[in-house]
Amino acid sequence: MSHSNENLTVEQARRLILSDLSPLPSESVELAGALGRTLAEEVIAEGDIPPHANSAMDGCALRAGDTAGATPQTPRRLRVIGESSAGHPAAEEVLTGTAIRIMTGAWIPTGADAVLRFEETRLDGQWVDVLKPVPEGKDLRPAGEDVRRGERVLERGTRLRPAAIGMLSALGRATVSVTRRPRVGILATGDEVVAPGADLAPGKIRDANGASNAAQVTAAGGDPVPLGIASDREAEITQRLRTGLAKGIDLLLVSGGVSVGDFDRVKDVLAAGGEIAFWRVRMKPGRPLAFGHLAALADGTRLPVLGMPGNPVSAMVSFEVFAAPAIRALLGAAEVLPVTREAILLDGVAHKDDRRHFVRVRLEERDGLTVARLTGPQGSGILSSMVNADALAILPEEAASIEPGTRVEVIPLR
Ligand code: AMP
Ligand code: MG
Repeated sequence: MSHSNENLTVEQARRLILSDLSPLPSESVELAGALGRTLAEEVIAEGDIPPHANSAMDGCALRAGDTAGATPQTPRRLRVIGESSAGHPAAEEVLTGTAIRIMTGAWIPTGADAVLRFEETRLDGQWVDVLKPVPEGKDLRPAGEDVRRGERVLERGTRLRPAAIGMLSALGRATVSVTRRPRVGILATGDEVVAPGADLAPGKIRDANGASNAAQVTAAGGDPVPLGIASDREAEITQRLRTGLAKGIDLLLVSGGVSVGDFDRVKDVLAAGGEIAFWRVRMKPGRPLAFGHLAALADGTRLPVLGMPGNPVSAMVSFEVFAAPAIRALLGAAEVLPVTREAILLDGVAHKDDRRHFVRVRLEERDGLTVARLTGPQGSGILSSMVNADALAILPEEAASIEPGTRVEVIPLR
């Protein structure tokens, strides 16, 4: 692994991280608990949806051939011989000259090949008058119209959204195989950092990263395992890491202490316990980044560790750019990298270095275009401009200062 202080691009750093992660084992869950989970199986339809041809309208099921030449002046008169309603198919067969009253969703009776809507008929007791020809297949939903038996309906790696869960149910599935949620340890570090409930003694600040990173883990499909706040003492950081290991975590996220300050001890602790590289990534915010493995696991497996900077916005942006993809890789997700879309940045932004900038913006639809506005000051400690942002706009390394109206890629923040 590359050594300390190497200057990497975002892609280089992310490739090094992702190349080391593979999907976790799968487990079976009930559909009610499947929202947001990642499919660990390929879903093949075992039958047609719908399973049988049915009516798309309330009307009369008939034989299209019986209606040829019908006009309001010379209607075709059919005898109504029964009724088919949803869940209660008719027993009768539709023979020439007959029809069956049918409701939306009811099975098309044997012999019928079209449906004539009530609005277009004259019903008279046992008789129905057809006023114009009905084409074969009219207002009829054939078996397999939606899904055909044997069809591949959902791909492995799909993140389950409500429609996919509805589809699984319609296919007759009560349970589904999904990747186990990665257990992600969250450790905040810093002598100055205290938990939200604690007193704010002089020199102290309240923790932001432990909470924001844990919420980001949940949003990315992982299971956060809070490991609290460690001081900048090596012994205490080591102690918290041991707690994480004992809790069976699959990935460890540490914020703070990976920079070049006198008390940035996380690096030493990680280096002592495994192989860890410290990088300078050409991005802003979030330049310092550590990644590697702790070798301390009893069964010989190694724990992937990502060390992110302590500034609240840097920790969140580093999460979106590196930790969220890492979690998606552990989930075996089909889409691992951040999804981007285009927007027009309405504000100008100074870009004076060769780093990739991620700036906090709010998106808006205007005249069919997506436009983005900065949400405020962009310092890496200014969490309020992150609170108001719903996307990160990406300013490429090579860009000169950005003029208002420039087309940019944005990462929506969900
Ligand atoms: P560090 O990366 O440890 O040098 O920290 C950079 C800045 O982020 C310092 O101003 C820290 O006080 C601040 N910081 C570090 N961790 C946290 C945290 N968990 N919550 C809020 N601010 C933090
Ligand atoms: Mg610190």
